[in-house]
Amino acid sequence: MRRWNGWGDEATEYPVPPGAARLLEQRLGPGAATAPAPLSAVLAAVPRSRLPAHALIDASPEIRVRHARGQSLPDWVATRSGRLGVIPDAVALPNAREDVRTLLDYGARTGARLIPYGGGTSVVGHVNPLGGEAPVLTVSLARINGLRRFDEVSELASFGAGIAGPDLEAQLRARGFTLGHFPQSFEFSTLGGWIATRSSGQQSLGYGRIERLFAGGRVEAPAGTLDLPSFPASAAGPDLREIVLGCEGRLGIITEATVRVSPLPERERFYAVFLPTFDDGVAAVRELVQARLPLSMLRLSTAVETETTLRLAGHERLIQALEGVLSLRGAGAEKCMLLLGFTGRKPVVTVARKDAIGIALAHRGVRVGGAVVGKQWQRSRFRVPYLRNALWEAGYAVDTLETATRWSRVPKLVQALEAALEGGLAPLGERVHAFTHLSHFYPDGASLYTTYLFRLAADPDETLDRWRTLKAAASAAIVAHRATISHHHGVGLDNAPWLAAEKGVLGMQVLRDVWARFDPAGMMNPGKLL
Ligand SMILES: Cc1cc2nc3c(=O)[nH]c(=O)nc-3n(C[C@H](O)[C@H](O)[C@H](O)COP(=O)(O)OP(=O)(O)OC[C@H]3O[C@@H](n4cnc5c(N)ncnc54)[C@H](O)[C@@H]3O)c2cc1C
Repeated sequence: MRRWNGWGDEATEYPVPPGAARLLEQRLGPGAATAPAPLSAVLAAVPRSRLPAHALIDASPEIRVRHARGQSLPDWVATRSGRLGVIPDAVALPNAREDVRTLLDYGARTGARLIPYGGGTSVVGHVNPLGGEAPVLTVSLARINGLRRFDEVSELASFGAGIAGPDLEAQLRARGFTLGHFPQSFEFSTLGGWIATRSSGQQSLGYGRIERLFAGGRVEAPAGTLDLPSFPASAAGPDLREIVLGCEGRLGIITEATVRVSPLPERERFYAVFLPTFDDGVAAVRELVQARLPLSMLRLSTAVETETTLRLAGHERLIQALEGVLSLRGAGAEKCMLLLGFTGRKPVVTVARKDAIGIALAHRGVRVGGAVVGKQWQRSRFRVPYLRNALWEAGYAVDTLETATRWSRVPKLVQALEAALEGGLAPLGERVHAFTHLSHFYPDGASLYTTYLFRLAADPDETLDRWRTLKAAASAAIVAHRATISHHHGVGLDNAPWLAAEKGVLGMQVLRDVWARFDPAGMMNPGKLL
């Protein structure tokens, strides 16, 4: 059973290793656990639904609570404290496109606001109902989840948009193919959600972001049906897929998507190389990316992230030994871990690996323990988010933010972001542990992904205030450095205040006009993105 107030399956635990607990206590001070609100108490307080009964909707308290929030930090504060605020009046579970049309008509008749819901893994408030007079119907795509068509010759597969990562990959694997889209939320996030948020998987360098993988599909909007036929390329005017990508549920419900798939790779390997400083690391990854080597993944951690990652790995003696040897070879206290992924045909993997590791070594890289560290990363790539449960229980909040900028601005932006976070709670006498990695790469720049931890306050509202202060400081730094407010999480509620700085007045108006054409009454996921 999935946790209703945390991450993942209830059967999976990831306790904080003792070395990591010591590091946090050193950096932040001791955490104080807060007791979570029991589900029974939250269910007892659920108000009556304002929606009339319908065969496709379920207004029972538990399903409404389980679809009330996503995975943002405010969502965690709400579910852990039991102070959920607004919850949907009902949840619909359509089985087919025709049901979706019925629900759009029902929404128009009842004045309901509709929130499309994929896996509920949004980290920026995308699926949260907002207050107001209108009742809210959350529409879960969980049952629209099958493989519809598979064109092996063209390497195209069409799925119901509610299919979650593991099911989608299982269907493709059975036919010798993969989508290659592996966000860290893979276990629960869905194809429709990836498209609606412009998601990027961990191996985007090789397979591409969802924009490259999304070839076409179908959207049911209040104003009608938008069919997007798939072409290898087209010059027939502006590409309407761009309106659907990143729509965040505002223009309608994606019911079907056709994606570009790849044959399963013959070989896949991940390795780590340690660079003596972050500057060496940035120079190495830029050269690797601009050399256009066929890599499937790169991830460069700052020194603080490297230290934190090694503590989180547990195995204290082994890590101490590894650090001793790395230090002797020139990768000491400031060392930065670079992970490299190679995926594809065996000869391509062999050549790419030789070239890429050669470039990293030329930037003073040290590859001691690289294969073991790479394997360890591969094993725990979807398990790490489970740590958030244990950290919260130990009294620490964890949140992440992400952006992207051109190469010439990367080093300054990393510094500015971390400084904004680290000093953000100083007036309260609280410290913040912040660290960054670069993880999605382009010839002209990279995405920055910053994780920050701070202590939970005894009062959930105060924890939320701490988060608001940090979020505002970090977002101001992003805007000041002319970087994007989101590289792959999307806008939702939490990034919305900073969107206009990037799109401009006319740009925002165009988006509003487009939404209004699809959804004249403004019933789709209001308040998000714009
Ligand atoms: C632990 C963790 C790790 C993560 N790692 C990554 C990562 O590596 N890369 C990344 O890109 N993101 C990541 N995310 C963010 C999140 O997983 C993505 O935004 C994901 O694409 C959301 O998919 P979902 O199916 O859960 O959508 P939801 O959270 O259910 O919805 C997100 C938005 O999409 C809309 N939507 C969903 N389905 C549809 C549909 N069928 N039609 C129309 N609108 C729809 C919703 O209305 C909402 O606005 C992570 C999140 C967590 C919690």
